[in-house]
Amino acid sequence: MAKEELECSFCGRKKPETSLLIAGLDAHICDRCIEQAHGIVIEESKQSDSTDLSAELMLRKPQQIKAFLDDYIIGQEHTKRVMSVAVYNHYKRLLQPPTNDDIEIQKSNIIMVGETGTGKTLMAKTIAKMLNVPLAIVDATVLTEAGYVGEDVESILTRLLQAADYSLEKAEKGIVFIDEIDKIARKSDNPSITRDVSGEGVQQALLKLLEGTVVNVPPKGGRKHPDQKFIEVDTENILFIAGGAFDGINRVISKRLNMQAVGYSASMSDNVVDNDNLLQYIIPKDLKDFGLIPEIIGRLPVLTHMDPLDGETLRAILTEPKNAIIKQYKKLFSMDEIEFDITDGALEYIVGKAIEYKLGARGLRSLCEEILTDAMFEMPGTDSNKLTVTRDYAEQKLSKTKLKQLKAVS
Ligand code: ADP
Repeated sequence: MAKEELECSFCGRKKPETSLLIAGLDAHICDRCIEQAHGIVIEESKQSDSTDLSAELMLRKPQQIKAFLDDYIIGQEHTKRVMSVAVYNHYKRLLQPPTNDDIEIQKSNIIMVGETGTGKTLMAKTIAKMLNVPLAIVDATVLTEAGYVGEDVESILTRLLQAADYSLEKAEKGIVFIDEIDKIARKSDNPSITRDVSGEGVQQALLKLLEGTVVNVPPKGGRKHPDQKFIEVDTENILFIAGGAFDGINRVISKRLNMQAVGYSASMSDNVVDNDNLLQYIIPKDLKDFGLIPEIIGRLPVLTHMDPLDGETLRAILTEPKNAIIKQYKKLFSMDEIEFDITDGALEYIVGKAIEYKLGARGLRSLCEEILTDAMFEMPGTDSNKLTVTRDYAEQKLSKTKLKQLKAVS
């Protein structure tokens, strides 16, 4: 066929009438048809977006949710199981067709207790990623009662709306992770002595969000734009996950366990208490003794704990998750055609330093960064195409002063 006879197989326009004609196996398509087709694809995907969510959510069973979490989170077996069931039940409740019986499934909001850096935020992020729902991460310490300096509790929902690109439908099925929930605990068990505005008042304000209510939310947040229109957000189907380190709660747990041991010596003497991980024995009453009001505890019915990270776990965190730190560096170096390797000795050294300086999992990244910055600066654009980080190399790059600095910022 002569060149000028080529035409678009969709609209029949001849090649000279088009700006671009792309050849396929047995057909051609012009620029205009591509644009039109693209428009249709966008339109279609918009329509299916709203129904997709339920289809997607229904597909995962608890064991599949857990398997997904396993790809990203090392250890924390108990919490992963508990979360899988809670998330499954939450979305089952959300997708249930209206029924005539009087059984109303309640929300399975979750509270995670564990030291900082043990993966609480990661857990919430991974769940949101898996479900493809928007996630808002908020810090309870900045929340105050309405009328005080700080952010109103409603600002949580502004964040969620932003995370959902202002799709109300998506936001209302999203996840809110409230970090540092322990920081709004009442400071003393006696409410009349310490009525702290920022603590108990915020807990009260949070209550209605947690149980499900319609809240008027300023879309851009804050009280600086009084004339902006409010968006009505229903929190009925929003999953709330709270997390906190609850410093000192070990004492509460151990005191309770000791008292139990006295009261029921026969039953307790059968069970050896693991003093290195007292959090595993946590019960809702401990949260109350710590200073959370009973109503809040009642609205966070799924209580779970995070295990402390030992050397073995830290080592696995470096190399095993789907987006493990070491895998990320490998990828970064490979973009410059540099083969990056790290020896077992070097990995052990990094883990050792993270433990010695109490840097936790978060410190692993800063340690690697310190060790690799020189290479990442110097190697690209040169002839060197291989970097093997040994223990000696790591030790040489990581001076004592740097370690101290890392500890100061962590
Ligand atoms: P938390 O919210 O408990 O303070 P994060 O979830 O922010 O802790 O964890 C800090 C970082 O440490 C995460 O970005 C993640 O890379 C890493 N991390 C912590 N715990 C784990 C874990 N169990 N598995 C994989 N990575 C982890």
